[in-house]
Amino acid sequence: ERLYRVKRWGGGYFEIGDNGNLHITPVPGNPQVRIDFKSVIEEMKQEGIQFPVVVRFHDILRSQVAELNQTFRNQIEEAEYQGKYMGVYPVKVNQMREVVEEIVDAGAPFDYGLEAGSKAELLTVLAFNTNESALTILNGYKDEEFMRLALLGRKLGRKIIVVVEKYSELLSLVRISKELEIDPIIGLRSKMTVKGRGKWESSGGDRAKFGLTIAEIINAARYLEQQGLAHTLKLLHFHIGSQLVDIRSVKDAVAEGGRIYAELRKMGVDLEFVDVGGGLGIDYDGTQSTSDSSRNYSMQEYVADVVYGMKEVCDLEGVPHPNLVSESGRAITAHHSCVVAQIVGEIKNSTVQFDTSEEEDEHVFVRNMRGLVSSLEEDGDNLQEIFNDASQWKEQAIDAFKLRVISLSELAKIETFYWQLMTYLHRKIKEVEFVPEELQELQYDLSSQYLCNFSVFQSAADTWAIDQVLPVVPLIRMNEKPTVNCSLVDITCDSDGKIDQFVGENGVADVLPIHPLKPGEDYFIGLFLTGAYQDVMGDMHNLFGRLNEVHIFSDDDDPEDFYIEEVVTGSSVSNVLSIMQYNPSAMAQDVKRIIDKHVAAGSIKPREGVKWTDFYEDCLHGYTYLKTSK
Ligand code: PLP
Repeated sequence: ERLYRVKRWGGGYFEIGDNGNLHITPVPGNPQVRIDFKSVIEEMKQEGIQFPVVVRFHDILRSQVAELNQTFRNQIEEAEYQGKYMGVYPVKVNQMREVVEEIVDAGAPFDYGLEAGSKAELLTVLAFNTNESALTILNGYKDEEFMRLALLGRKLGRKIIVVVEKYSELLSLVRISKELEIDPIIGLRSKMTVKGRGKWESSGGDRAKFGLTIAEIINAARYLEQQGLAHTLKLLHFHIGSQLVDIRSVKDAVAEGGRIYAELRKMGVDLEFVDVGGGLGIDYDGTQSTSDSSRNYSMQEYVADVVYGMKEVCDLEGVPHPNLVSESGRAITAHHSCVVAQIVGEIKNSTVQFDTSEEEDEHVFVRNMRGLVSSLEEDGDNLQEIFNDASQWKEQAIDAFKLRVISLSELAKIETFYWQLMTYLHRKIKEVEFVPEELQELQYDLSSQYLCNFSVFQSAADTWAIDQVLPVVPLIRMNEKPTVNCSLVDITCDSDGKIDQFVGENGVADVLPIHPLKPGEDYFIGLFLTGAYQDVMGDMHNLFGRLNEVHIFSDDDDPEDFYIEEVVTGSSVSNVLSIMQYNPSAMAQDVKRIIDKHVAAGSIKPREGVKWTDFYEDCLHGYTYLKTSK
């Protein structure tokens, strides 16, 4: 626990079991319900599901929906707040049908609605958010078709609110609703002066991409009044960024938004809702701090600040408490899914063995390095000097090699001596109090790289794009002392395809303590908190495509049992090729024709030809990732 801080980032859903395996406790308040991850892996293996796999725990999704809604309800009751909470889930955070369906189902008792930010998402929410008491919030830039679809929703009795992001949208919405004779429900998004701190801080401030200025908001209200549509303006919206790391920005935004609402109410605008957008953060790195991958508050504190903050402004201004809307997607989905991937190899420069026996006429650099190694016993305390000499001679040796001054095997000897020296220094720095700066890097330089059968670009896009930390832990053997420090490299042909930021004992670390691989034994790691954005943002880099997926539910009859409710097959090679405009069956025919030619020419035997043809076709229909089982 100290090493992996599962309890810190796990939101109560994960813990290390006494048997050293990761356990899932998907129902907060009921620790009896407990699933051993190793059994999930075994079951997947038995069903012949190939790794890597996205594992979804639908109970976690349901628990998060209930928790957010219940927290708002409790705070509203405690604060004697007069409005209701009518939250929506922004589908862009994870648009997978099964995820949206589960959220809608779990949210039904709370009239929890959906938010859409594009036409495709709007078409989705029209079909899925059928609860007429729940809200549908429409954000993002909109064309005429978008407006018509929204008005179709009104015709179907839905509480659809079109949030105007720029002034011209208001003009077209009014025109189209008059043409169709359907009253819209309108929201106005305010450009906020408050900026959230963190990766998404540009969602606030003067240069924010979305929203109306205060002058535009007043003009919009007046325009709707002139058009006889004042009664359609119902919501004030703001969103100052996702993953807000500092609770102060939430407080500031609620204070600013509350003031705008109150002033508009006093101007006679009959607003009923204030939508505080998203922003509720996740403690990805377990530090509970204002680091970019964390946040310095809990869900409870966030909700309390929204409810009490709005109440305070409204009471001071003497206006009614609005119903509260929030659009948290990250907090709803992040915990529910993870990626299970297998380690398929280890890369470690420092352990390469090469014969360094002394030879006549060897170059002075080789001799120097050998001398340095053999002097360690009596003269091995000046760590910085050893480091400087070794590094300099190695660099000079590389230049000398390029200039054809030393041979390839001399360079190999120098490299071998160099790593012996670095390994010595690494051992020594653990014994000294003061470690010079350059030597502090040795931990990383000497760490292993574990080759992991997955693609960072598909499964953890934000670790690559914005240095987001995602927790990675071994799923088994956590009762054994991890004796290897590693970073993870993926199987894409890209040196950026790696993870070298981990949840560490003392904050974020550049290596992950992990177990040595045992020959013939599978070793699995889990990449956690991937349910928000990561699940759906992956790209086709190297044509790996979507992962196999399993949906897990806990068994009502046996708290320690579970069942795989659904298996969604990931991309096959032919799927990804078709997306890139190839025609896989034509490719198979072409390859067959070429093989047949070789058969006719006698360079391949007929029986062998059939085998090769079948093999090519099997691979076309197979999984894109490394096949690790027969
Ligand atoms: N609402 C809007 C308008 C957004 O732009 C976003 C994401 O940035 C969200 C909601 C989701 O917010 P979060 O990622 O904090 O859940």
